[in-house]
Amino acid sequence: MSSSNRWNILYRGPLSSCNYGCDYCPFAKTRNTAKELAKDAQSLNRFVDWVSAQNNREIGILFTPWGEAAIHKSYQEAIARLSHLSNVYRVAIQTNLSGKLHWLKNCDLRKAALWTTYHPTQTSEKKFLQQCQHLDKLGARYSVGVVGFTHELDKIKHLKSQLASGTYLWINAYKDIANYYAPGEIEAFEKVDPNFRTNTIRHPSLGKPCRAGHSSFSVDGEGNAYRCHFIKKVIGNIYNPSFSGKLSNSPSPCTNENCGCYIGYIHMPALAQEKVYGDDLLNRIHNPS
Ligand code: SF4
Ligand code: SF4
Repeated sequence: MSSSNRWNILYRGPLSSCNYGCDYCPFAKTRNTAKELAKDAQSLNRFVDWVSAQNNREIGILFTPWGEAAIHKSYQEAIARLSHLSNVYRVAIQTNLSGKLHWLKNCDLRKAALWTTYHPTQTSEKKFLQQCQHLDKLGARYSVGVVGFTHELDKIKHLKSQLASGTYLWINAYKDIANYYAPGEIEAFEKVDPNFRTNTIRHPSLGKPCRAGHSSFSVDGEGNAYRCHFIKKVIGNIYNPSFSGKLSNSPSPCTNENCGCYIGYIHMPALAQEKVYGDDLLNRIHNPS
């Protein structure tokens, strides 16, 4: 199947609970009821069934839950099932890596991947690295991410030095304070993550072509589809048989002023991020060759 037939889908169901308590996050230490989790699992299974029926597409899926989903059996089973579908080239999930990892043995690890984030206020470096070593033993694909606070630079460098060689550590730039990085600091972070500079910018996007809404889209638990997570206008519903007609025939102009998140700007053709990440674009693994 050619990549022109490819759909990259970001799925975010109703689940919003998390076992961590990051003080910058609205989902910290929240709990979903058993009924809410059952509803989330039902929505997820419906989505997986739909993906399995898209035989004429090559599909990549990134689960971008509001909270922590990889600790739930429903997501573990969904990822395992999706990884074995012939029309799925990649299935990944954003996770804090706090949960058990045995379920990955049920996945096709050529296709399943983890987008892990290290939250230093919630776990120790030692515990996080033990989880990474477990992933290495399993042969799992994963990246590790952190926020690029300048006072954390030495700790970030240390984390990188402890990861298996070849493990990509990405750094999200702190963008809430303008001109946060002093001269030389961007270069210092770039030595750890060669792609850091791209993330320091909220890329001007208004009127510029974007593949979101063309070959990439976001889906919620009801099947409602959006161009991306950042434009809250429903473009159609994937469970409607005519859904594919709701996507644009080519990259179309963005209606937002700018795009500052990796999961958004990777769809801007002008940034050519697919040339950097290849088939690991969706799950953010950089494999410099
Ligand atoms: S691990 Fe993620 S979802 Fe959970 S509290 Fe921290 S930032 Fe929020
Ligand atoms: S540039 Fe960003 S905000 Fe605009 S459509 Fe693309 S992903 Fe969405």
